[in-house]
Amino acid sequence: MRQTVQVENFGTNTRAGVRTIKPLALYIHIPFCQRKCLYCDFISFPGGRERFPAYLQALGLELGQRLKAELEIASIYIGGGTPTVLPTEALTELLKKIKAAAQVLPNAEITIEANPGSVTKEQLALLFQAGVNRLSLGAQSGKDRFLKKLGRGHTTRQVETTFATARKVGFSNINLDLIFGLPEETIVDWTETLKWATALGPEHLSCYGLQVEEGTPLAKMLNEGRISLPSEDEVSAMFLLNAELLPSVGYRHYEISNFAKIPSKSNDRFSDYRCRHNLFYWQYADYLGLGLAAYSSVAGRRWGNLSDLNLYLNALRSGKLPVAVEEMISPAKGMAEMIMLGLRLIDGPDPTVFKARWGVSLDEVLGSRVEPLLTGGFLLKKQGTYCLTPRGMLVSNQVLTELLNPLL
Ligand code: SF4
Repeated sequence: MRQTVQVENFGTNTRAGVRTIKPLALYIHIPFCQRKCLYCDFISFPGGRERFPAYLQALGLELGQRLKAELEIASIYIGGGTPTVLPTEALTELLKKIKAAAQVLPNAEITIEANPGSVTKEQLALLFQAGVNRLSLGAQSGKDRFLKKLGRGHTTRQVETTFATARKVGFSNINLDLIFGLPEETIVDWTETLKWATALGPEHLSCYGLQVEEGTPLAKMLNEGRISLPSEDEVSAMFLLNAELLPSVGYRHYEISNFAKIPSKSNDRFSDYRCRHNLFYWQYADYLGLGLAAYSSVAGRRWGNLSDLNLYLNALRSGKLPVAVEEMISPAKGMAEMIMLGLRLIDGPDPTVFKARWGVSLDEVLGSRVEPLLTGGFLLKKQGTYCLTPRGMLVSNQVLTELLNPLL
């Protein structure tokens, strides 16, 4: 079915309200953390308690401008930063406002990110009672010495305790974020981290390779030779281990870096543990982002919010939308992006949705460029679409360049 979505104007702000005929995913950014991890270049500020009231007020204003009664929301993701540094009442109030302003579907996935060691039992219980049904914990490693190297403010024991507490208060859909390729990490260390994580029994695991971002303390330590990273071959072996070990213990590898528990028919409350929110991004569906530096993509139009906190607050105080950049996505760019994101999925981009959306098939768009990638073992053709092989995933940037350059 062709996805037809439209953006309409409401009130006095151009394109303020968002209306689509399809449910969308809503992201809320909370840019505060207790402390800054050594590898982090996300938009997040350590401390900042004195800014909480102003930020929440601005977020409320943005929400009031963007959400409309007709809007259907299939997923809410409160991320950051560390959203749970905010007073819990502020978070539950935020959810109430969203539910009052738009139609949150009855089976909507509602996720919040939290850090082990700082989130309390009371907070978790209140959030669960307020309708949050998915918890994403930043566990990162199953070894305390790596948590220290990353400047994380928690231990593995605290991950275990927070996980058990979350279960006790009712969470039956928990994700653990993990990072591999850490300074001085070996394949044995990473194997042990995976075994430790799966022994806890989360419904979802996100396993990303460490990116050392310019300007972070970790990059400085690396440049000064105070730490060293595993070799490219070692990191590749860790990546391949994810794809081998996790499916062997009941997880479905559904996206390059993401694994979802396969529900057992009798016991599980959910029929699918893939992250519904992120599937909106990977399937190139519409999403709305609210908060500092949040991005939105609705009906072929994409915009990004201001990333300077004062500018963001001032814009909303003076009745303006806090938009910094905005573009209409051309069909060529849209097709390239949909293929690029779809190839992150193990099943590849959906060929029916692609054709319905763009009026041309994947084969027509990709042409003969797929041939050398198929014969080279980087791509696989199945069920009318293309997927990356494990070999292709290891060099996905090169594969995507080969495939998509003519479109960009
Ligand atoms: S908790 Fe997350 S967002 Fe906050 S500093 Fe650490 S990595 Fe960055």
